[in-house]
Amino acid sequence: MLTAPTALLPLDAAPMLALLDLRSGDPLDAGLVVDRGSPHPEGGLLLSFAVPPGRHTVGLQLRPRDDAQPAWRRTRHLDLVTHIPADLDAAAVLAALAPLVARLDALDGPSTRVTVPPPAGERPPPALRVDVPAERRDEAPSLYDFGRVHVLDLASDCQQACRFCSARTRFSPVARFDEAAFRAIVASLERARADGYDVLRLSGLDPLTHPRVTDCVAEATRLGFDHVHIYSPSTRYDDPAFLDALIRALGPTGFTLHVPLYGGDGATHDRVSGTPGSFQRVLAGLGLLAERGLLSHVLFVTVVTADNAPALPALRRLTASYGRPVHVFLPFPATPDPRDRFFEVALRQSELVAPMLACEPPLGLSALLPCVRWAHERRTGQPAWSRGGVRTVAALDGNLFELGTYRRMDDGPQGGTFRIPVRRCPHASACALAELCPRAVYEAYAERFGTGELVPVDAAELSGWSG
Ligand code: SF4
Repeated sequence: MLTAPTALLPLDAAPMLALLDLRSGDPLDAGLVVDRGSPHPEGGLLLSFAVPPGRHTVGLQLRPRDDAQPAWRRTRHLDLVTHIPADLDAAAVLAALAPLVARLDALDGPSTRVTVPPPAGERPPPALRVDVPAERRDEAPSLYDFGRVHVLDLASDCQQACRFCSARTRFSPVARFDEAAFRAIVASLERARADGYDVLRLSGLDPLTHPRVTDCVAEATRLGFDHVHIYSPSTRYDDPAFLDALIRALGPTGFTLHVPLYGGDGATHDRVSGTPGSFQRVLAGLGLLAERGLLSHVLFVTVVTADNAPALPALRRLTASYGRPVHVFLPFPATPDPRDRFFEVALRQSELVAPMLACEPPLGLSALLPCVRWAHERRTGQPAWSRGGVRTVAALDGNLFELGTYRRMDDGPQGGTFRIPVRRCPHASACALAELCPRAVYEAYAERFGTGELVPVDAAELSGWSG
């Protein structure tokens, strides 16, 4: 089919799919099936293609042309960047995408203009350091307090299907890791050390299922990283041989194991993780860590969603039995996609106060906006503000890579481009608790629930409150 150049090439899902004559479900060669278009979390438009029956997604990112950046192909005004899981036949995938490139090439004439939709939402306000008295400090350390952190995302499969997680729309599990990939990881660790990073964060889908993870950790130890944070579903600590190899690789390096628990019982945890048996595996791993005297390295994490909020008290009792703190996350959107899981699982902050207060001691109040806590206490007399932790850095967890001193392996010299747009609080200048507050909600939260919960706190009322 002959295609004439078009005046506008919008980096917007619906018009671009129409221009390319693509519909969800259309088959392409190499087993690809058109899935959707969505804003790419790091800029431009992402066209996604499913590869059934597995869990792979192939991505084709379209962004305004910049010859200084690497790209698979370029048209007159666009860069085309592919995201292909390493265990697919890349040549076949590229061949299947070639007709789309030809179509884009034909559409992109000398006077074609690429239009980029305005980003939804604003940049987050700066993170604020808060002087919190020891007795009010949140039980978990702030993620913003881990120093300069080099982030290594290992895209080996987690084998889970957590209800709140949209990570797979950003990257697919990879099953084949060759020596070149390992050398690239080691080179990134060396660069990070040379640039003064002394803390390493291992995350991804599940870094612990990566076949070279202990080698990566051993390299980090050899290079003198001070501390390694491991974010993982934590099911693999149930394997004694693996656990011992990991601990050997860590050697003298400090480490924190961020262990997710989504409920105090298997039914709740496994419902959130989407994976029968995952709770028992985490508990088995905790048992092995306890036997080896390593529980002091555990920091529990949880995500409070519509699925597990009522079960928070049971989670509190379970984590307390290990004597370890819990970092409570509220769900946040991992993508700007309207189908992000955030919209299915998030609850209003004001709905979370009661289950958090039902825990003894209260759990998770530090993750809520101060005005939400205060409004609950003022209305009910229950100590949603007077009790419960306060974080030492006021900022939203989802904005960590924008506001914290974190750098990911693939970030360019200008730093990270990953953004979660927010809506800033319009009342911050009039609010007595603004200095303890992120002063924003995620744009997705504002879209879903509005901003009616953001009510400025009156200084006189606050100082006169006996709690
Ligand atoms: S600054 Fe805004 S969001 Fe923060 S506590 Fe005050 S009213 Fe709430």
